[in-house]
Amino acid sequence: MTFLLRFLLFVTAFYILKKLVNYLFGKRAGSSGKHAKPSTGTRKEISGQTVKDPQCGTYVATSIAVPLQVKGKTYHFCSTQCRDEYLKDSDQSKPPDT
Ligand SMILES: [Zn+2]
Repeated sequence: MTFLLRFLLFVTAFYILKKLVNYLFGKRAGSSGKHAKPSTGTRKEISGQTVKDPQCGTYVATSIAVPLQVKGKTYHFCSTQCRDEYLKDSDQSKPPDT
């Protein structure tokens, strides 16, 4: 009979241990999605330097902006579309050479 008792004890202990591990790991796995935030090294770089898009007025990070050099000055645009628009506008505002 002692064998059966031992077996039951073992099973119970194993069951409790399994439940405990499941609880601990389950909790960890559930919160791991929210814990992925601190590692935002790249985001810090992006938000570190922002410049104003002279075409649409949007503030855009230099790392993702579209650069354009005009008369030695560098402008940054949120998109190539804005850059082209800005070039078009600046061309139109130029006085004709005739
Ligand atoms: Zn823009």
